[in-house]
Amino acid sequence: MAQHCSLCPVVNKICFWGPRAEKKWKRPGLFVVSILITALGALVFVPNVSDSVATHVLFSFVLSIGVFGIVVSSFGCNACVARTFGEASF
Ligand SMILES: [Zn+2]
Repeated sequence: MAQHCSLCPVVNKICFWGPRAEKKWKRPGLFVVSILITALGALVFVPNVSDSVATHVLFSFVLSIGVFGIVVSSFGCNACVARTFGEASF
C-alpha cells in the first residue's frame, strides 16, 4: 500500500478520474507543468488582459489549478502526484 498524506482526501475529491500509475518523474514533471500553468493563470493580475468577467474567472480557475499542482508536487505523496498528473500517465 502506498503511504497516505494529508492531501489524499482533497486529491481524491478533485481528481475524479481515479488513481494513476506512480512514476518517479511525475513529481518534478508535475511541478514544472504547474509552474507553467500558474504563470498563465497569473495573467489575471495583468491589467487589460483580464478585463472581462469571463476571462477573469478563466484565469482565476487556471491559477488555482497551477497552485494546486505546486502544492501537491511539494507536499503530496506519490499516489497524489500520480493522480493529479492524470491522463498524462504512460
Ligand atoms: Zn496523498
